This record gives sequence, structure tokens and C-alpha cells, in this order.
Amino acid sequence: METSKKICKNGSITLPKQIRAEAGMFPGNAVNISTSADGTVTIKPSAPCCRFCGTVENVIVADNVVICRKCTEKLLAKVDVTND
Ligand SMILES: [Zn+2]
Repeated sequence: METSKKICKNGSITLPKQIRAEAGMFPGNAVNISTSADGTVTIKPSAPCCRFCGTVENVIVADNVVICRKCTEKLLAKVDVTND
């Protein structure tokens, strides 16, 4: 997704919800911001965080999706209920 935003007087930019969701960014998560010689600004999560709850603790990467142990257990419980 690509979108256009204006920079506020104080220099802040609100990242659109869809962009945050696609990037796995949650309120309170730290990000790294860098620039390139061509003027490109890159914002990346400082640490991998769970796609579903945003925690950075006990996370694993499975098929390019970051997920924590708790969310994995919740999903598995739903699968178990569905299969009964
Ligand atoms: Zn989680």
C-alpha cells in the first residue's frame, strides 16, 4: 500500500491503520527510522512483534508472520474447537 500524508507542524505523521497492520506495528512499539541518499525514509519495527497483539516477547516467525506464544495457543484452541 502507498498513500500520501501531510507532515504536521510538530513534524509528526500518523501512519494509516492499514499500513500499521501490514507492517505489524502497534501503539507503544519502538521503530527504527532511517534515510537514504535518494530521500527515501524507512520506518521498521525495532524488534519483531506479534502480528495479533503487538508483544515483542516470546515471538516466532512462521511463513513471514510474527506471532507470540499466547496468540499461537489461542489460534490452536480455536482450531481444536472447530474440528470437534
Ligand atoms: Zn500475540
